[in-house]
Amino acid sequence: MTSFPLNDDSVVVIIGSGAGGGTLGTELALKGVKVVILEAGPRIEIEDFINDEWASFAQLSWSDKRTTSGSWRVHKDFPNLPAWIVKAVGGTSIHWAGASLRFQDHEFKARTHYGNVEGANLLDWPITLGELAPYYEKAEFKMGVTRTNDIPGLPGNNNFKVLEAGATKLGYKEVHTGRMAINSRPRDGRGSCQQIGFCFQGCKSGAKWSTLYAELPKGEDTGNLEVRPESHVLRIEHDGSGKVTGVVYADSNGKHQLQKARVVCVAGNSIESPRILLNSASNQFPNGLANSSGQVGRNYMRHTTAAVFGVFDKPVHMYRGTTMAGIVRDESIHNPERGFVGGYEFETISVGLPFMAAFLDPGAWGRKFTAALDSYPNMAGLWIVGEDMPQETNRITLNKDIKDKFGMPVPNVHYDDHKNDISMRNHAYKQATALYEAAGATHVYQQTPYPSTHNLGTNRMSANPQDGVVNKFGQTHDIKNLFVSDGSQFTTGAGENPTLTIVALAIRQADYIAGEMMKRTI
Ligand SMILES: Cc1cc2nc3c(=O)[nH]c(=O)nc-3n(C[C@H](O)[C@H](O)[C@H](O)COP(=O)(O)OP(=O)(O)OC[C@H]3O[C@@H](n4cnc5c(N)ncnc54)[C@H](O)[C@@H]3O)c2cc1C
Ligand code: SF4
Repeated sequence: MTSFPLNDDSVVVIIGSGAGGGTLGTELALKGVKVVILEAGPRIEIEDFINDEWASFAQLSWSDKRTTSGSWRVHKDFPNLPAWIVKAVGGTSIHWAGASLRFQDHEFKARTHYGNVEGANLLDWPITLGELAPYYEKAEFKMGVTRTNDIPGLPGNNNFKVLEAGATKLGYKEVHTGRMAINSRPRDGRGSCQQIGFCFQGCKSGAKWSTLYAELPKGEDTGNLEVRPESHVLRIEHDGSGKVTGVVYADSNGKHQLQKARVVCVAGNSIESPRILLNSASNQFPNGLANSSGQVGRNYMRHTTAAVFGVFDKPVHMYRGTTMAGIVRDESIHNPERGFVGGYEFETISVGLPFMAAFLDPGAWGRKFTAALDSYPNMAGLWIVGEDMPQETNRITLNKDIKDKFGMPVPNVHYDDHKNDISMRNHAYKQATALYEAAGATHVYQQTPYPSTHNLGTNRMSANPQDGVVNKFGQTHDIKNLFVSDGSQFTTGAGENPTLTIVALAIRQADYIAGEMMKRTI
């Protein structure tokens, strides 16, 4: 295993080993660039994953203290768990379900297409779908996304068959088992999906793409990549000229270490990434690093989400088979006649009985609730994922009253639904209910959103430095050798699951960083 000394100031330091950081680190290492990935969590390999929802949650999740505020339901139900994120090597690419969709052309130009939506801080991305298309192709090939590169779709489980029956009866046209970064046949040294059904708990067969086993080992094999687990980054250091010079982290014993760096890339997901920049405030940068625009931490997006479960008179056993291999895409268009801008997708979802009890209607009790749980074997489920509006006031700030075990202020996550988000969710609830009723549901449950799985936008890309934090390569407007490499660089959220776009941007960023290092501009 390669190990770089702390005083080696020629390395690129990446904070976080998830979808963004893990991909970027591997791509750079394959190009011959020396990389240290600092990862706060431990290295937990496939054989240690646990097919048990709560035990797996305890093993993998980011459970460091966080606080919340705002009118969103998550603040009421889970005040200290705003987001469902992994703290381990591989990051949330261990938990994720694998749905891998490209953003649509118009979604890169939300301000142009949606106009001036009151209360929304909408902006066009500084890149187009055309510019990102070659990188989407590379990402799909790398991740083995079904229905691309001649890779067949996954088979449909019972949950999909119910979705398909209802969707077809409603007249929806684009219904299939999705574009999934899950092997439908052996590929890239990994086997095909065994239909185990614990996709969220870490795929024990390795069929689902994760940086943990599909990317990082390839980077490590080059001798150019060191992944340093249990290295919790506290702040980024800079010199008098304003260039970043290294990263201070707490090692597994809590001892502070300084890893020097030529370039620093922040990829800690959209709550931790702005938190690190804000916690790195100095005399020269009193509002935090890369924050001359004041936009660090703002425009937090989490997608307009909710789940809907239909109960049928015969068993469905929705938990059997791939969790999210089922999609209806017809509502993903932008059609303001529905009463909102942007669009949404329906995707199959299932949770086990323990999670159903916790998330179906948090706080509920009594006969009605137990009747719902009794009907669990006969349930089919879908998830709504749609574009939410960026708002300046939805933001990550430092809660200086509460400190973590390293003495750093914890992040506070503030979120209020925009009225566009509420209209979209209500439309989706209505359509999903109609879908399950068309398939013969005897009862339909509309579940409220649970802690955020898609966390976006808090260090957003902008053409103009006043409007955002990074340029179109994820390079901060203020500091040339400081980059953002995760979903926090999203200008807007689009209606699709974000990870394919995070990976495409990371591949593109690796080209840019390697090129700029060659030119010695960074
Ligand atoms: C249950 C679930 C299902 C999902 N399904 C899908 C799906 O089907 N499709 C899809 O597109 N997306 C899905 N997602 C979302 C997807 O997992 C994320 O979009 C993606 O992993 C984000 O990548 P990232 O690199 O930004 O962050 P992450 O993958 O979360 O990685 C961030 C890493 O940074 C580390 N880190 C944070 N702070 C520090 C610090 N201070 N020091 C050192 N390390 C730090 C963390 O420990 C973590 O390992 C799902 C998420 C969940 C929870
Ligand atoms: S259903 Fe397939 S992708 Fe999901 S955990 Fe099982 S083998 Fe992995």
